[in-house]
Amino acid sequence: MNNEKRTKIVLGILFVALLITGGLPLWKHRRFRTPVVAGPGVTRVIRLSDYLPSLKGSVADTDVFVLEGKEPGGKALIMSGTHPNEPAGTLSTILIIENATVEKGTLYIIPTFNVSASRETKPGDGYPLYFDIPTSWGAKRFRMGNRDASPLEQWPDPDVYVHYPEKQLLSFLDIRNTNRTWPGRPNGLLMERVTFAAMELMRKNEVGVAVDMHGAETMFPVTNCIVAPEKSAKIATIVSMTVKAMEGFDNHVEPSPENFRGLSHREIGDYSDAYPFLLEAPIPFLDQPTGPKTEKLMLDGKDPFLLSLAKKKRLFVPYDESGWPMDKRVGQHMSVLLEILRQYSKKFPEKAIRMSGVPRYAEIVKNGSGFYFHDPVQADPKSIYEE
Ligand SMILES: [Zn+2]
Repeated sequence: MNNEKRTKIVLGILFVALLITGGLPLWKHRRFRTPVVAGPGVTRVIRLSDYLPSLKGSVADTDVFVLEGKEPGGKALIMSGTHPNEPAGTLSTILIIENATVEKGTLYIIPTFNVSASRETKPGDGYPLYFDIPTSWGAKRFRMGNRDASPLEQWPDPDVYVHYPEKQLLSFLDIRNTNRTWPGRPNGLLMERVTFAAMELMRKNEVGVAVDMHGAETMFPVTNCIVAPEKSAKIATIVSMTVKAMEGFDNHVEPSPENFRGLSHREIGDYSDAYPFLLEAPIPFLDQPTGPKTEKLMLDGKDPFLLSLAKKKRLFVPYDESGWPMDKRVGQHMSVLLEILRQYSKKFPEKAIRMSGVPRYAEIVKNGSGFYFHDPVQADPKSIYEE
């Protein structure tokens, strides 16, 4: 064997070894599932494809947990994982699914709205693949996701994304962003079909409230807030004032601009009878000028660079050495959601929605989110769903 041939074989082996060591963790991440224990309030688990059969069998299909009260009342859709790199919402919806009991009305809960985006991450940006939430029975592990659906599932991107049906020109990337593809269309690209199916769920069930849970950078003005269009603004304002007065945290109201299309807080209101609300909890992990994007930063939100920017008044949220921990973000989501449902029920008593068994801000900050998750090993196997 001459030297050249030997070099080629060695390089070939090195290449395959690199491919396996680099690719295997990503392959495993795509296949990792978090078990969710359907709690006492879950009466049915349906699929998003029940509202658009073409989603069946695709990666975009997802679980819809239905919690029906004994008394009829109003209906709400609660979504998380529109952007799976903003996971406080996912923790909040799973917390409701595992613990809530609904007395009046119906909740539809979609914990993993953009499944494709939840199965990839940003290794190029050094994102962790997972994060663990401590519980009394061990760590509950979650996949860290990405903002947009994977090109593995929706490809190629157009040069310019022409929003349907408003025809606004948007960035090509946003065709894979399920917070730009509302209200969607039945024969569109995969993410347009995901949002269309959710619109159909709302229209066919006469859903009155839609809450979409997100997180946003501390350096971005639309953070630590409730985004609401005109029709939801009054309820959002009362909610903002109530949580401030009763629970002591800020959550201001941001208007949903009429000329910025494709967003849930805009299109759900325009294309259905539902009152939409988008919740933004501050997430320092997503800010650009931070240290390494570690699991620790994702969970505690403590960063020295953001701290020095806070001292220069460059952040849009209060920020000190305590960072912005996950439990605080989950707590805010829960209290704001519960307050939205309470205020909606006051405004429309015949369409009231009442649930119990779920904690609010102070309890979650005190006990930690993990306190409320159930051990899947101890649970009835029939009650376990994989997200
Ligand atoms: Zn988001």
